[in-house]
Amino acid sequence: MEQTKSLIVTGAGAGIGRAVLMHFHGLGWRVIGLDRDAAALDELRAALPDSTASLIECDVGRESAVKEAFAQMGDQPLGVLVNNAGIADPYCGPLEDLSLDDWHSWIDASLTGAFLCTRAALPLLRKAEQANVINISSTRAIMSEPETYAYSAAKGGLDALTRAMAVSLGPDIRVNAVRPGWIETGPWQKQADRSNPEHRPRDRKQHPAGRVGRPEDIADAVEWLVGAGFVTGQAINVDGGMTVKMIYED
Ligand code: NAD
Repeated sequence: MEQTKSLIVTGAGAGIGRAVLMHFHGLGWRVIGLDRDAAALDELRAALPDSTASLIECDVGRESAVKEAFAQMGDQPLGVLVNNAGIADPYCGPLEDLSLDDWHSWIDASLTGAFLCTRAALPLLRKAEQANVINISSTRAIMSEPETYAYSAAKGGLDALTRAMAVSLGPDIRVNAVRPGWIETGPWQKQADRSNPEHRPRDRKQHPAGRVGRPEDIADAVEWLVGAGFVTGQAINVDGGMTVKMIYED
């Protein structure tokens, strides 16, 4: 069976989503990127020819916006959906001050967005050969720092949603999650926000792989999962080994 070479990635305007979009575009796939940041999409549009890439402004946490975005895509088969959009900063402050609106902003971008986009994409995925849904979770689904309630809950929910979808949507559609660890996205931001931070030796030492991650590492993992025909319902840590290293306070 020939893999259907088309991919949708949410949160494609910056960071990991942008790297995934560019990676698969470089492999010759038809790519569609969704993001709520219009300026980031304009920049990408200037770099990619219209015939091979569609970039659509969409807040994936809003049902009507997702419906409108998918209505613009036509009905061609879809090989891969990458639910990547999310609010990258996990810190939400003390629990007693966390408003319901703020709680929803983390949950909506990651968890509700993955539900809405997967539901909208199903008719297109079902037309494809070897369809995949890949959810970008986080190692914070399984380990926490203080005051990251909404982010952690969104990612734990995304891991559970991954398993639930895998057992229900198979065998035609495989569903997996990638759990990034610390990924430096500075060089993959839109021009106005771009940066190239230096990492401290202790940051590198925290990783058995000897370095902080790059968005390209996540794109490689997504490509691997797309080709891994007997893997479904899994959440794979792509974290340079950080989650298996015991850390003691100094
Ligand atoms: P980023 O901020 O660089 O990029 C996220 C993109 O998603 C942005 O372009 C933003 O506009 C978009 N976005 C946010 N909310 C959206 C919404 N509701 N609708 C549409 N687009 C939306 O972030 P990143 O670091 O590349 O993170 C991407 C994903 O990877 C997130 O789900 C994040 O939780 C996860 N992740 C990142 C890291 C890391 O260290 N960078 C680690 C673990 C998990």
